[in-house]
Amino acid sequence: MPNQSSTQALSTQTSSSLVALTVSPAKVIRGAGVLISAAGEIARLGTRPLIVAGDRTLKISQESLQSIFQAENLHTVTVSYGTDCCEASLKALREAAKEHQADVIIGVGGGKSMDTAKLVAHQLQLPVVTIPTSAATCAAWTALSNVYSEAGAFLYDVALSRCPDLLILDYDLIQTAPQRTLVAGIGDAIAKWYEASVSSGHLQQTLIIAAVQQARVLRDILLQKSEVALKEPGSETWQEVVDATVLLAGVIGGLGGAQCRTVAAHAVHNGLTHISGHGSIHGEKVAYGILVQLRLEEMIPGNQLAAAARQQLLKFYAEIGLPQKLSDLGLGNITLGELQTAAEIALDPHSDIHRLPFKVALEQLMAAMVSTTAPIDSNRIDKKGERVTGN
Ligand SMILES: [Zn+2]
Repeated sequence: MPNQSSTQALSTQTSSSLVALTVSPAKVIRGAGVLISAAGEIARLGTRPLIVAGDRTLKISQESLQSIFQAENLHTVTVSYGTDCCEASLKALREAAKEHQADVIIGVGGGKSMDTAKLVAHQLQLPVVTIPTSAATCAAWTALSNVYSEAGAFLYDVALSRCPDLLILDYDLIQTAPQRTLVAGIGDAIAKWYEASVSSGHLQQTLIIAAVQQARVLRDILLQKSEVALKEPGSETWQEVVDATVLLAGVIGGLGGAQCRTVAAHAVHNGLTHISGHGSIHGEKVAYGILVQLRLEEMIPGNQLAAAARQQLLKFYAEIGLPQKLSDLGLGNITLGELQTAAEIALDPHSDIHRLPFKVALEQLMAAMVSTTAPIDSNRIDKKGERVTGN
């Protein structure tokens, strides 16, 4: 049921009133081919791991993973998270972990494997290890899990008590993933600047200032290095871009915490998951969502910097293959009703879209969603760069 987003569902679920900083994993090991030598670190956390993986990861790497873990005398059981990080999968995995008497949870795969593994570990109060096999999100780093319906519709996120105990970033594993996943990771990571600067750019807390500034640095690194990185997989520049999407994006989430969260780009993503299911990946929808957010900033308060930023991003997206409009997400033939459904979910009363410093009407959001590639309306600017039409 794609529309069953209950109104309380889009907010963060926090289990404790105790506010702890969750800045970084306890240990991060990175490098090409590091998994073999890092397996010993897993053994320090537990000897009976439950491995949570996606079907693609299982198909590609189950045998090589098994031999690495067996060499450390780890008694593993591997279970697929199924279709999504959804309540049914979480329940099945908790049961599997109990049956196996697991003492550590390992997430291997993309963002959904990471989110599922982290949440199962959080619920069972077990240590968790994340081993990303793509650079599509910073989920291997953060103390946050997104929960979806079985059909892939975003329901809510859960703030976890801590970041993973161990993150193993093996570039050789990341290189097995389709290029599209790194492109999506770039889209998800670059959103940090466009969202954090709006939600938190005015705040004075030291760590939040640091987070927003790091988001700007992250944007600049991605704008400068992504095109070269994608042409040269495995190169130093490619590794730097992988570090940007998996690690630095995570640092920003960790430093900024709950006050430095997402705004309209992720709200639009959340709305789209209710009409597109598993058709496109997270960072692709988020990247499109940034353009929608900039379009709103441009249309409603008439922010010309947003208009210029949108043009800059459109050029960047064309260079690296990020989606610019609904049809690029495979949603070129949706009905007006479906567009309205996505916009209504993005405008849910608990949605982060309301962190924008102005009100957004349903019709305005729908208009922005279909005009992400519109040229800048030059009639609205006079020679001094000030708006002429005041409405
Ligand atoms: Zn994201």
